[in-house]
Amino acid sequence: MLNETEEAIDLTDITRNNDSQPTLISITQARREISRQLQTRVCADPQTQDHGHSYIVWNNSDWLKKKGVSSQIIPPTNPGIYGGNTHQLLEIHKTANMAWRRYKLAQAATKKMIMHAFKDYHFLELQDDNGDIVGYTAIELFDHLMDQYVQPEDVADQVTALHKVLEQEYDPTEAPQVYYKAVQDARNALDSLNQTVDDETLIRHGLNQFKEHIDLKLDVRSWKLLSRAEKTWKRFKTHFIKAINDNKNDTGTLKAIGMANAVKHQIEQGKENHEVLAQASFEAREKISTLERNYTALMAAKQPPPPPQETADDRLNQIKVLTERLNLLESNKSGGGGSGGRNGGYRSLGSNSFPKNNKDGTRACRRWSNDEYCWTCGFDIKHNSMTCKYIKDEAAHKKEATATNTMGGSTRNLHLRV
Ligand SMILES: [Zn+2]
Repeated sequence: MLNETEEAIDLTDITRNNDSQPTLISITQARREISRQLQTRVCADPQTQDHGHSYIVWNNSDWLKKKGVSSQIIPPTNPGIYGGNTHQLLEIHKTANMAWRRYKLAQAATKKMIMHAFKDYHFLELQDDNGDIVGYTAIELFDHLMDQYVQPEDVADQVTALHKVLEQEYDPTEAPQVYYKAVQDARNALDSLNQTVDDETLIRHGLNQFKEHIDLKLDVRSWKLLSRAEKTWKRFKTHFIKAINDNKNDTGTLKAIGMANAVKHQIEQGKENHEVLAQASFEAREKISTLERNYTALMAAKQPPPPPQETADDRLNQIKVLTERLNLLESNKSGGGGSGGRNGGYRSLGSNSFPKNNKDGTRACRRWSNDEYCWTCGFDIKHNSMTCKYIKDEAAHKKEATATNTMGGSTRNLHLRV
């Protein structure tokens, strides 16, 4: 019974965000990775379908998008001490107790995974006097990260970054599954930002990659011959996994014949093009000689025009000025006076807009331009003493405390106030 509930967590499957601030992407990624671990934890509630305990990391709207899920899950509560007097009541109590225990274990495991993915100081606001983070559910921890580190403008940037992932290059030295997974992850992340990417888009990006590889030319062609209904992302994946594996295993005849046919096909097309070209150039030559004849006739009829000496000089000057300007622009660009760097202004994946904290976790500079202060959480935050959601000590917390009158509250980040 103990073994069933106390399953080990596999932290190696949880990506660590070393040294970087949480971002929308890293938070979403952690949520998804943790969710996967929780799926295998048995949950007695049949409404959780095949998703085990994973519901504890998803907000309702995201949870309801899961396969087969049709209702919100109400987490079990502590059934307390058994006070009944029948066998039936005792069984009910036992079951409720077990559900509660499993739920608590899942929450504890989740907290461990979240702490593994992020740093202690990302949760400073939630720590009690001993530096412990106690009494928060997984959802509350994730909400805290979103609240503290994700700004609305970030969403637009992350969407752009994710679209870049969708357009990434397929690396033929790796299994195609690696490529598939990366784009699928990007699609899922985009989905959680309410940006839907359909199968057709994934396939389009995939084809763009695969068609660059000569040994997949045939397979790209045979894919194009499929009907619209057959062109699903699932089928696309297997189609090219098979093609790539065949390429690896089979250097033999079938493929060679196929390649030869493909080449022949191209040569034939080339021939056709050549004929069209010949016809066109014949027509062009006809036209040119007609024009030449017309021109000679005109020239004979008219006075010779003034020599175009001056205008030619003007042109030369113009070209010179433009070239100089271009050179100037070019040298400015490669000089790299700004901060941008080689990514052309795009923020690379996993980076973030916030400056890093000091080594000890205290903030080095302002994150928010407001004057909000909270008795429990301190300064440079997005809420105040009145609206705090992180109150640890209801009796001590002073709702009237402000940055100018802290009433003995937290001094965190107050050094950033000017
Ligand atoms: Zn607060």
